Amino acid sequence: MQTASDFSQELAQLAQVVTGTVYACDSPGYEDSCAAWNRAIDHRPSVVVEAESAEDVQKAVRFATRHRLPITTQTTGHGQPQIAAGGLLVQMKRLNRVVVDSANQTASVGGGAQWSDVIAAAYPAGLAPLSGSSPGVGVVGYLLGGGYGLMLRTYGLTVDQLRRAKVVLADGSLVVASESENPDLFYALRGGGGAFGIVVELEIGLVPHAEVFAGSVAFDASNGAEIFKTWMAWTKTLPDEITSGIFVITFPPVPFVPEFLHGRSLVFVTACSTLSPEESELLLAPIRSRPGAELDSFRMMPYTESGSIYNEPVDPLPLVGRGAMLTDLDEAAVEALFHAIGPIPQSPNLMIQIRHLDGASARIPAGATPIGDRRNGGYLLYALGVPMGPHSPQSIAAHGEGILDALEPWIHARAPLNWIGEASITAEQIRGVYDDASFERLIRVKKQVDPDNRFDKAGVGIWMAAQPG
Ligand SMILES: Cc1cc2nc3c(=O)[nH]c(=O)nc-3n(C[C@H](O)[C@H](O)[C@H](O)COP(=O)(O)OP(=O)(O)OC[C@H]3O[C@@H](n4cnc5c(N)ncnc54)[C@H](O)[C@@H]3O)c2cc1C
Repeated sequence: MQTASDFSQELAQLAQVVTGTVYACDSPGYEDSCAAWNRAIDHRPSVVVEAESAEDVQKAVRFATRHRLPITTQTTGHGQPQIAAGGLLVQMKRLNRVVVDSANQTASVGGGAQWSDVIAAAYPAGLAPLSGSSPGVGVVGYLLGGGYGLMLRTYGLTVDQLRRAKVVLADGSLVVASESENPDLFYALRGGGGAFGIVVELEIGLVPHAEVFAGSVAFDASNGAEIFKTWMAWTKTLPDEITSGIFVITFPPVPFVPEFLHGRSLVFVTACSTLSPEESELLLAPIRSRPGAELDSFRMMPYTESGSIYNEPVDPLPLVGRGAMLTDLDEAAVEALFHAIGPIPQSPNLMIQIRHLDGASARIPAGATPIGDRRNGGYLLYALGVPMGPHSPQSIAAHGEGILDALEPWIHARAPLNWIGEASITAEQIRGVYDDASFERLIRVKKQVDPDNRFDKAGVGIWMAAQPG
């Protein structure tokens, strides 16, 4: 039988053989090493390995498997809580090398890179990745959940740009997954989330858009429902080259929000266009010329400034969110939404957002990836709160559920993995992401590559629960 001192000895040996850093829960630096960007996530693993190479990841995984520890992977901690309690957390952020192949319009991306790393490397070559609203989000976590990006309607889901991945499996082996090598694992990675192994490197396609016509325009939220209705009708007229979103937000009086916005409730319409400035101006005019438009930031911008389209917070925050996909949006849906939100300045969810989908993202066959028929959803809905003042995590979550209940007639049966929420995720919600055929195929892959469910025991346990026998 193994004793605590055997464990400590082996941990000390692990620290000797990795080039990165190993932290036990009493080591100096432990708190920082496992802190997540979303401060609502409180990882308490027994061991953290801050990996510096694929070999470090392999050694960490073999250690965890030998000691029967659950493994959690973290790149930035923006993702839904897969909280490491008593297990081993592999911290990936040091593996952030990006190499761009401009001739083939691809990038080789380290498993711990953020989108900002890829954007910066691609820009000098006149290229851009299909990143999302926040450049600080991790590439792998975002991509394994589908990837709903700023140019989604022009170029599709980010996961459709995945060419190959190098993955460390539960037995510590390093394998390549692509259309021709380990195709089942490749299928699972394209929307199945982080339950199949640790991605140490991937190759993705880039698009020739170092510049985009993009930005946002704001309106006072007192007339919010009308602006949402105008936006809804406008999206139905748009070509695939424009990907747009809308959100209503009440700005909290916190240091990272400019003082003139403190306490204000505004509706922002955002868009990213891959057309010329002239064509974009013309198509955006019905929104930008609406009476009351203010803070208009639309311009031709280098893609390196794409984070300014949504202006999402950069520094860590505690967030509680809940989202879904809508099959369609009409005036009745907008009215139901605003009724469920209630008085906007007092809303426990300080930001409620809808993004327009379809376009190129809907043109990949449903059976090709675990995303299934969720490509035909028309819009994404997301409600997000920051627990502070009168708003507790529970009141934010209950308000978010109320919004989803009110929109039930428009909600797609399956939510996108990246959009189910930031807190209180249940096994049922994760199961609800997949149709039966996709889920069965994922379970078959899971059994091959991680039969002891090493990679999500610390999470909600959906894969384990679903495995027959
Ligand atoms: C402010 C904000 C903006 C967002 N914008 C968008 C958006 O525009 N479009 C969109 O689609 N999503 C968006 N998301 C959702 C985001 O894509 C997911 O939350 C994603 O999981 C975050 O990945 P991460 O690596 O940053 O987070 P982490 O919490 O570090 O990781 C999340 C999960 O990904 C897996 N994972 C991470 N790294 C690896 C790896 N190397 N190998 C294997 N598994 C790994 C693990 O399962 C982990 O639990 C946003 C989220 C936030 C908070």
